[in-house]
Amino acid sequence: MKAQVDQDLCISCGACVDTCPEVYDWNDDDKAEAIVDVVPDNMEDQAREAADSCPTEAIKVE
Ligand code: SF4
Repeated sequence: MKAQVDQDLCISCGACVDTCPEVYDWNDDDKAEAIVDVVPDNMEDQAREAADSCPTEAIKVE
């Protein structure tokens, strides 16, 4: 599974970084981004939960 954050939609609320810091972190533009190429199996539920918690639906997981 991969996770991607649409930089144009991210409003830097921090929900994903709080929910799943193993997968999402801040970049130099103070937006969230996925910090792993492939989400580890044991992090998939959390990565999906973070995507669901995003208020602007900026995160795509597939
Ligand atoms: Fe950005 Fe969505 Fe993460 Fe909030 S939850 S920091 S809007 S990607």
